[in-house]
Amino acid sequence: MKKQSKIIIALALILICSIFCGSLILKVRNNDNISKNNKVNATNNSKEEEQGKVKENNQKHNVNEKKAEKLENRFEGMELKDNLVGVPILYYHSVEKSEDNELRISPKKFRGQLKYLKDNNYVSLTLQELQSYITQNKPIPKNSVVITFDDGYKDNYDNAYPILKEFGYTATIFVISGLIDKDPNYLNSDHIKEMSKNGVEIGSHSINHDNLLEISKEDKIETITKSKQDLEKLIEKPVISIAYPFGKFNDDIVNITKDAGYTLGFTIDKGWGNGKEDPLKLSRVYISAFITDESFKERISKSQYK
Ligand SMILES: [Zn+2]
Repeated sequence: MKKQSKIIIALALILICSIFCGSLILKVRNNDNISKNNKVNATNNSKEEEQGKVKENNQKHNVNEKKAEKLENRFEGMELKDNLVGVPILYYHSVEKSEDNELRISPKKFRGQLKYLKDNNYVSLTLQELQSYITQNKPIPKNSVVITFDDGYKDNYDNAYPILKEFGYTATIFVISGLIDKDPNYLNSDHIKEMSKNGVEIGSHSINHDNLLEISKEDKIETITKSKQDLEKLIEKPVISIAYPFGKFNDDIVNITKDAGYTLGFTIDKGWGNGKEDPLKLSRVYISAFITDESFKERISKSQYK
């Protein structure tokens, strides 16, 4: 009897053990399957993610393409012209009421001029559009202007900027970099950053409005190069243009400008900018505060104006 009961106990133990081990094996197998499934799912997920990314990239690509198309089409349906005709590159200074300063045009008069441009379907070009017109002969609308301001007066922000926005026109301001945050009559860094983010382009006008013909070669390099770097640091965008202070330049200065990385240089030589000109020596059209409406209309419609 004792022997028999021992055998029964032993058998029972074996049975319990095998059930336990069996269930353990099953559990491990299940876990294994679960982790395999997880892996499969993870792979599927990452595949889906990848597909999602591809889709997203495609969408982004399409958006970019659409943007590019939109830019290409900006001139669609307009009568275009090649770069032998040229384009009036207007230059202003201060936009502020004044009786006796020809560099200070009243906001009312400035607004009247932009309204005339708008009413006559004029387009204002960006510097990039101007550059591809001048250097690659990419056509622009027959009625095009480039709007520029020299010196970077604070009233460009207070008075000109709201009027430009009102008519949807873009412009370039040539800033004297050494005066930023130093002289309250000139634009500060906040004005410049805000305008730069909203379609107004920033160019250099040297560090201290230096007469480039009267300073040493080292100083020329310094004022031309450092003003560009300081402005780029401020607006976090490339600065491609310079307006020579007092319109003074020579071949040496133009070479330094080119070496510094500028692609457009603006003078105060009278006339329209065109494809026969050196893009670093572009002529401009002066808009004095005393200009009559007739003279303004003539300057923007005839390359050979009085
Ligand atoms: Zn100036």
